Amino acid sequence: MAEPLGELTRTHTCGALRSGDVGANVVLLGWVHRVRDLGGLLFIDVRDRAGVTQVVFDKDDEALMAKGKRLRSEFVIGVEGPVRRRSEDTINAKLETGDVEVVVRKLTLLNEAKTPPFSVADDSPVSEDVRLKYRYLDLRRPRLASNMILRHRVTAAIRRYFDAQGFLEVETPILGKSTPEGARDYLVPSRVHAGEFFALPQSPQLFKQILMVAGIDRYVQICKCFRDEDLRADRQPEFTQVDVEMSFARPETIFNLIEPLMHDVFAVIGKTITTPFPRMSYAEAMAKYGSDKPDLRCGMPIQDVRELFRESSFGVFKKIVADGGTVRAFVVANAASYSRSAVDGIVNQEKAQGRHLLWARRAEDGTTTSSFPKAVGEETVRQLLDATGAGNGQLAFVVAGDPDATSKTLGQLRLTLAKRDGLLDPETYAFAWVVEFPLLEWDPEEKRYAAMHHPFTSPLDDDMAKLDTDPGSVRAKAYDLVLNGSEIGGGSTRIHDARVQSRMFELLNIGAEEAKLRFGFFLEALEYGTPPHGGIALGLDRMCAILANESSIREVIAFPKTATAVDLMTNAPSSVSPRQLRELHLLPRT
Ligand code: ASP
Repeated sequence: MAEPLGELTRTHTCGALRSGDVGANVVLLGWVHRVRDLGGLLFIDVRDRAGVTQVVFDKDDEALMAKGKRLRSEFVIGVEGPVRRRSEDTINAKLETGDVEVVVRKLTLLNEAKTPPFSVADDSPVSEDVRLKYRYLDLRRPRLASNMILRHRVTAAIRRYFDAQGFLEVETPILGKSTPEGARDYLVPSRVHAGEFFALPQSPQLFKQILMVAGIDRYVQICKCFRDEDLRADRQPEFTQVDVEMSFARPETIFNLIEPLMHDVFAVIGKTITTPFPRMSYAEAMAKYGSDKPDLRCGMPIQDVRELFRESSFGVFKKIVADGGTVRAFVVANAASYSRSAVDGIVNQEKAQGRHLLWARRAEDGTTTSSFPKAVGEETVRQLLDATGAGNGQLAFVVAGDPDATSKTLGQLRLTLAKRDGLLDPETYAFAWVVEFPLLEWDPEEKRYAAMHHPFTSPLDDDMAKLDTDPGSVRAKAYDLVLNGSEIGGGSTRIHDARVQSRMFELLNIGAEEAKLRFGFFLEALEYGTPPHGGIALGLDRMCAILANESSIREVIAFPKTATAVDLMTNAPSSVSPRQLRELHLLPRT
């Protein structure tokens, strides 16, 4: 039977006691972590969020001992008694409280617990479905408990930083109008207005821009965003952004704001990061790494060696170059570990995917071998290795074809090899700004342009004239913050001129009528003295996952959904009553 809490008040957390506390009379409140019943001796480890403390029952107090022996894992208890030093042979160096123990004088059984479906006391592997169903038990375990503490410290550091920089945290609506981040909206039917819907925000984009029109000047919000996408990879239907907007900001202003923020965020885990972060254009990232989120921990940049083949006797490559294609290569960082059969294996894997990969190698003695046809000649192979900087003992992989495709192929291979060779050290933090993204991307299905970032992103001043003549080549004042191959944030300088904004809608095939219907309120606001402005949104979940060295963002979210967008603990989504549906005008009234 559970006893009342009464006046019982915790004096210390279960992580607090040290040898300096010996002699003090303390009260600990927490869960039974482990029971060690040695017959005449009974030890209980008591746990709360802060840690674990051993308590010991006095064998002379029979009634107390009998009560103690009824304790099971995860019962909730209060213990009161003096702190004493453990005998030398029982000191537990692994436990912060391991020098001491509490002698139980009074035990209060505050609640019993069913036997948990998995052990809370250790982090032994348990299937994720079970962990998600019993999330409250999983959250008690050390891994998730420390992730929650980390996440709190990160958000606290973020708030402190922005406050010191004069930012105001302003809340924006959850029930709103469809926003333009390009994903599907979650819709909320209106009961009051039959047939009308709110949309949950994909981001507060328009509100934060309107806050700039409103003179807020510097806005930040740690906010939930909702996107109804098929949950590829590691996405969640609702996720958290650190959303930022600033008046009179250039891209540079935002970089200078965010770099010291990252410094403060990484200080939470005791890491010092180097600023400024390298910057590279989208075009450079795509060519050198085959990705707009390059992982810069492993070197191995892709290099263009097409000029070697323009006049070469290797007809296949010569033709590719003459037709506007290219030849690209990268030098493997760890060539010594690649036997001939390992190289053939890689080539065959690429072949199975329809990609034609060649290689060239220089042995320690300087002689060259390659998979190029004999006719290419050793001299060209040597020149190729020279051009890529591959010295003795080094190996280069080579692909020819369409420039984007060659870099993509080599970029993926580069990452595969980096993983294989353990070059992606999770404790190295390689940041980069990728800048000057294309403003538009061609949607071949819809046969029209779509905004690559979102429709409110400003073109580069230098490219403004090309909006009419060659819109596909216009670069944007858009940037992404990349960390270890993940995009952890993205933003842009915005369009603040209503005419340019209308032109942008035209380019996106959004007619004047539709623009007015969807964004009329915003276009109108732009006409009332809008300062130039820009901002960024950082993905808090991904950032915390990287800081916690977790590969999935689910490990840093208290109550995440599965990959199929289900909450296994609450069983949401679930059906609702016909009455509710009728009220919402989703079923005809009978
Ligand atoms: N609203 C954008 C996003 O959610 C970020 C930004 O442009 O500030 O990706």
